[in-house]
Amino acid sequence: MPEITFLEVPFNEKSEAKSRGAKWHAEKRKWFIPEDADKTKFEKWIPEYESEFTLRAIAPFYLIVATEICYKCSNPSKVITFGAAGCEGEDENESVPVKFEYIAVLPYRLKNFVETNYPKYYLDWSNTTESFYYINHCEHCGTVLGDFFMHHEPDGAFFPQSPEDVKEMEVIELKGDGFVKLNAEPSWGIMGFIMECATVEKYQP
Ligand SMILES: [Zn+2]
Repeated sequence: MPEITFLEVPFNEKSEAKSRGAKWHAEKRKWFIPEDADKTKFEKWIPEYESEFTLRAIAPFYLIVATEICYKCSNPSKVITFGAAGCEGEDENESVPVKFEYIAVLPYRLKNFVETNYPKYYLDWSNTTESFYYINHCEHCGTVLGDFFMHHEPDGAFFPQSPEDVKEMEVIELKGDGFVKLNAEPSWGIMGFIMECATVEKYQP
């Protein structure tokens, strides 16, 4: 039996859920997504921690753009990740600046945003994690620029060593309030330093 995704639909959104194609499960007394349906249409009703999302980033939600020198071709490439003012998950509930690694699922709008603006950042297989996650790739030769090195090694793009290093990064506020659901690993510490030294810009579509 395929797994059924049940939804949490508020009473006043019942007819909207129905018109998008949600079905009523009489026994469970819950709305659910039909097997062949496009899940993204129901995203807002998928319960937080039963879905493929593992945490909620607390806005402001930031795009971080940095430069990594490709270890294969030695050319500089723009690489991205995301950060936030805090995050809530099954094990953590922290209102301190956080950045995200090993992002495996992005919400629909953010997915479209990166596909359009950062086509070298895409779901790819990692031998390090033995999983698919959104990995940066060299703009010149396509080599995988993995999260472990960039986030944890002192030469890595997302591991600035000085305020000057941070000034070379771009921190762009994508969303000012609310939450952004992600499947990712949160990482604290260095993001506090980035926020102290960064000049945050607002996203201009
Ligand atoms: Zn390269």
